[in-house]
Amino acid sequence: MVNLDQYSEIKFSLDERNVSLVAVSKFKEIADIAALYEAGQVDFGENYVQELVNKQAALPSDIRWHFIGHLQRNKVKYIAPFVTLIHGVDRYDLLQEINKQAQKNNRKISCLLQIHIAAEDTKFGMDEKEAVECLAFYTANKHNFNHVAITGLMGMATFTDDEEQVRSEFRKLKSLFDIFKSSYFLGDENFKTLSMGMTDDYQIAIEEGSTMVRIGRALFGAR
Ligand SMILES: *Cc1c(COP(=O)(O)O)cnc(C)c1O
Repeated sequence: MVNLDQYSEIKFSLDERNVSLVAVSKFKEIADIAALYEAGQVDFGENYVQELVNKQAALPSDIRWHFIGHLQRNKVKYIAPFVTLIHGVDRYDLLQEINKQAQKNNRKISCLLQIHIAAEDTKFGMDEKEAVECLAFYTANKHNFNHVAITGLMGMATFTDDEEQVRSEFRKLKSLFDIFKSSYFLGDENFKTLSMGMTDDYQIAIEEGSTMVRIGRALFGAR
């Protein structure tokens, strides 16, 4: 069940701080998503390609869909016609494939590089060195990437009660964001999104500079 009171509260406090909200609707019913949409939410995030494709077809066409899961190259084509922002770009060849599929659809798709900041090694993402390599190549070969735009970074903190650890991981991501911005995107106003923070840690993420939070359970209840 959607918690509309909770939604209003969260939305109000995010608006005050200029942070955008992606409502994470994975495993949730069409009716729940529609209810949140009716309440004014336009950005929704999904983790699985098939689920996203099904929901996109069944729901209003002005919903902005974010892909926040781990994306396989051979599945990019299914979401390329409509996806608004791909949060989890963690390989250079994935960026190439997104560019190719976006071109076929006559679109330009915004992407975030996913950076591995957590202590667990189960979470996907590039380390700093891989991100630097990717960005160096991307900026040196811009003419081959006319159909993608890297508009920021995304990261997930360790799943832990230790607030200081979570805070320091977000802080690390913010500092990488600032470094990359001044090294590779100076004057590029599109590079502005720092996607970090979920139900349990979004307050900390915002204190550490998040511009976009991805919230599921606080809006839709437990999965
Ligand atoms: C599921 C998921 C979320 C939302 O998590 P909640 O704890 O439900 O807020 C955010 N980001 C990613 C990448 C996810 O997979």
